[in-house]
Amino acid sequence: MLKFKGLREPVALEFPTPGLWKILQQASIWSNRNGYDVVIHSIHDHTHAKASLHYESLAVDFQVRFANGKPNRAAMSQLATWLRGTLPSGFDTVWDVPHHKNHVHCECDFRARPRKN
Ligand SMILES: [Zn+2]
Repeated sequence: MLKFKGLREPVALEFPTPGLWKILQQASIWSNRNGYDVVIHSIHDHTHAKASLHYESLAVDFQVRFANGKPNRAAMSQLATWLRGTLPSGFDTVWDVPHHKNHVHCECDFRARPRKN
């Protein structure tokens, strides 16, 4: 089950983009198959890096927690692996790197990169 619980303020989104729905759908499949609730703690709310896809409702921050509320890193590793393996190209999952040690960030990024020709 997906649960929406902001860490500092309610979870908000401006527009439910198809990419956002795809991320939420895949996270819910993982949750249902593995027996862990997944907490969505940020979409388009709070403060993120400049130009973050959170500001376009194209990024989601997830946590999987133990019953006592502490982050379950092993389960989040499994969730990140699942998202990387099941979402098509254009989606990026960020986990276990600086600033992403206690939550999984997943985004739909189809932005064009600088041209090389
Ligand atoms: Zn994020």
